[in-house]
Amino acid sequence: MSNSGSNPRFNAIQTVSSRTPNGSVAPRDENGAPLKISDYYGMNTFSQKQMKQKLPNDIFKRFIQTAQSGKKLDIEVANALAHAMKEWAMEQGVTHYCHWFQPQTGTTAEKHDSFLTIDGQGNPIERFSGAQLIQSEPDASSFPSGGMRTTFEARGYAAWDPTSPIFFADIGNSKTLCIPSVFISYHGDALDEKTGVLRSNEALSESACKLLHLLGDTSARAVNASLGTEQEYFLIDRAFYTLRPDLIMSGRTLLGAHPPKGQQLEDHYFGSIPARVLAFMTEAETELFKLGVPAKTRHNEVAPMQFETAPIFEEANVAIDHNHLTMEVLKRIAKKHNFEALLHEKPFAGVNGSGKHNNWSMSVTAGGPEIEGINLLEPGKTPHQNLRFLLILMSTLKGVHKHAGLLRAAIASSGNDHRLGANEAPPAIISVFLGNMLDNMLNEIEKDAHKELSYVEAVIKLGVSRLPTVMKDNTDRNRTSPFAFTGNKFEFRAVGASASCSLPVTLLNCAVADGINEIVVALEERMKTSKTKEEAIFAVVKDVIKETKAVRFEGNGYSGDWVVDAEKRGLPHLKTTPQALHEIISPKSIKLLTGLKVFSENEIKSRFHVRIEIYNKKVLIEGETLQSIVETQILPAAYQYSTVLAEGVAAAKSVGLQAPQTEVLSKLYQVLGSAQTELKKLERTIAQIQSMESEEAKADKIAAELKPTMDALRKECDQLETMVADDYWPLPKYREMLFLA
Ligand code: ADP
Ligand code: MG
Repeated sequence: MSNSGSNPRFNAIQTVSSRTPNGSVAPRDENGAPLKISDYYGMNTFSQKQMKQKLPNDIFKRFIQTAQSGKKLDIEVANALAHAMKEWAMEQGVTHYCHWFQPQTGTTAEKHDSFLTIDGQGNPIERFSGAQLIQSEPDASSFPSGGMRTTFEARGYAAWDPTSPIFFADIGNSKTLCIPSVFISYHGDALDEKTGVLRSNEALSESACKLLHLLGDTSARAVNASLGTEQEYFLIDRAFYTLRPDLIMSGRTLLGAHPPKGQQLEDHYFGSIPARVLAFMTEAETELFKLGVPAKTRHNEVAPMQFETAPIFEEANVAIDHNHLTMEVLKRIAKKHNFEALLHEKPFAGVNGSGKHNNWSMSVTAGGPEIEGINLLEPGKTPHQNLRFLLILMSTLKGVHKHAGLLRAAIASSGNDHRLGANEAPPAIISVFLGNMLDNMLNEIEKDAHKELSYVEAVIKLGVSRLPTVMKDNTDRNRTSPFAFTGNKFEFRAVGASASCSLPVTLLNCAVADGINEIVVALEERMKTSKTKEEAIFAVVKDVIKETKAVRFEGNGYSGDWVVDAEKRGLPHLKTTPQALHEIISPKSIKLLTGLKVFSENEIKSRFHVRIEIYNKKVLIEGETLQSIVETQILPAAYQYSTVLAEGVAAAKSVGLQAPQTEVLSKLYQVLGSAQTELKKLERTIAQIQSMESEEAKADKIAAELKPTMDALRKECDQLETMVADDYWPLPKYREMLFLA
């Protein structure tokens, strides 16, 4: 007897096997010739080029000045700008506009209004004013505020952030002008993720300029964090996706037995991209190019059906917006190709999870020609540039060392817990990898720290002047480090694939700003007694090397020994999200963030509460989903199959024989029994958690009890999957989801 005809899983396999790649969507000119990327790059954005064309010269200049100064736009400029924008947008068929912002949900939000107005004579006309451009008041009382707003003053304002380009979203038959915005409360509190990025960038700029001035680079006026995000994701066919309630509800497989083949052959990494996937990537990138997102690199990642897209780096604020757009475009275009793009940090157990490496550096965005455009993490060519680089490097080490716990909190989420701190995953310890040569150099400097080595002696002995060549040769990569120096930037690799980069960048900016500020104070002090500035700088560098030694780790971050070593070094090891999140509200973090005027104490607490609640909700959704899958799909399949076996056993008995399947049947009953026991425990735990008042207590219980119970139940179900006849198993299996496309 076969069950395959009625099993939707088999139909899905058939559907998937007959798929073909979607045709090309490459944009073409009116004669049908293919366009170059540069021909249509940014065509859906209201860029400065568009502005310049559409605006009177003086208005354009005034806008640029205001945008650079960060001051409020005056209404005359805003009106002219809004008018030009509306004209341009309507030429493209845009009918609506919205303020596009990042509430604390981790995603983006938008509420559309049409340009339509009825004029005094009752005629319909299109209108868009400066006031409408600058600000809107969405009825946004349902966004999480972590207790910052009570509902009677639930008003939140979305205000245009002119540092990020305006674009229009072209989805289906509708085109909507999107105005990148911050979202703040009536009292000016940050209700969103972007405000922190902007404020932290100002703090970083201020401290970096102070340091630069002290070093003699007196023309530096502004420094900006740069960011390049490497976005990893999985694709699976939608025919499979729709049969997996766990993927639909939680973005990851809550159960599924491992196939014999995972990623051990390493035959997927950088392999040739499957044709259907390439068709998807091409369309997604075309969309991104139109939106002015500089998508650059695409390749297969380590796990089967895992891929990556990486852009050319940009100013952090813009790069963050562009990463949000990238995630949105990946998800949307994947569907058109009958794929589901999974951005979850660990969609499948047993193979690699997905991260989003945040490549971070800082460059001078305003200053004299000798310094503007310089990446401060680039060693440079002259001794002066080398020393500046060393100090910036030391500031980063200082910041990461002092605020390692806070940076761990920045990347904490229920999804990322599977990548850091879980069973198969590396420990959740923030350490810095510098690469062999740089590490050796710092060790040498440290070794001589007790000697009164003059700067000139040091330069010769330690080869500080060799820095540029050192950097060029610094090609060794340590993929196990959560925070690695890679030549002229740091890679904050611990960020999760589905996360917004906003909080990680905000807190990293703050940590480094703090490091710089401390170095400025130390340097000023040293300069009072040192013979030369170089001597003073060198002395400070030596001190910081000693102080930050604990956070530097060149070894294998995934090894068990590292956990022991790190604990001896006193580095924070915060295994779960609830543990990590408490770092946000530690006195040290509050002092840092309020001191830099990035967040008020209220805003900090709000971030903590919102994240705890999201953690609770997400894991509870997973728990309930698992419960329902087991009750309504897994157990019934196992019962059904056990009935078939039992019938065979009974039939054999009736003719006086012992059926060979008796053994399988009794094992099946045994595993079924254990599964049922774990299921009851799961139900009980969920009910207990739901009846609790305090969100913090809930979170602790979820981490300590609910998650282990889910794991235990999964183990039994995965065992059932290996026992129940294939045609009785309802859920698409790992071997199908990961290897059929
Ligand atoms: P990898 O070998 O890690 O893929 P890449 O050179 O391809 O390294 O860079 C990865 C990402 O880092 C890209 O998004 C790139 O634009 C970005 N990146 C390169 N230089 C910088 C920089 N100075 N600051 C920030 N990001 C950078
Ligand atoms: Mg990288």
